[in-house]
Amino acid sequence: MITEEDRFRDHLKKKGLKFTSERKLILKEVFSSHKHFDVEELFGRLRKKDRAISRATIYRTLPLLIESGLIREALRCRDRFYYEHVFGHPHHDHLLCIGCGKVIEFRDERLEKLQNEVCKKYGFELIEHRLGIKGYCKKCQKKISKST
Ligand SMILES: [Zn+2]
Ligand SMILES: [Zn+2]
Ligand SMILES: [Zn+2]
Repeated sequence: MITEEDRFRDHLKKKGLKFTSERKLILKEVFSSHKHFDVEELFGRLRKKDRAISRATIYRTLPLLIESGLIREALRCRDRFYYEHVFGHPHHDHLLCIGCGKVIEFRDERLEKLQNEVCKKYGFELIEHRLGIKGYCKKCQKKISKST
């Protein structure tokens, strides 16, 4: 079985780049949890393990991980990008709470099928899609109704 490390190492090799200890650390941290993450959060986690790591290194490494097909930009909220695993993670879509930042993952076959039908109708070849619904989760809805 190919691991995320094999995949990343191969990609770096193709680009003539080295699998440095920093890149390895970032890869490990990204794949240590299945949750969505953004740069700040990842930076905080990595900082605890390696004081020398910089944001710049993370910003340079994330595009490499995306190119390798390991992660993707999943959502964007308040100018922050959230990433998630693609590798070993089946397709799904997102509900995103703009009140508290909670992310709910879902997959609904009816939606998937409908999107295929739309593409077919327009003679369009589907490669990938990203569906993100923004709104308020149950908890935040309650907060809003209390404050008004
Ligand atoms: Zn979908
Ligand atoms: Zn919420
Ligand atoms: Zn997700």
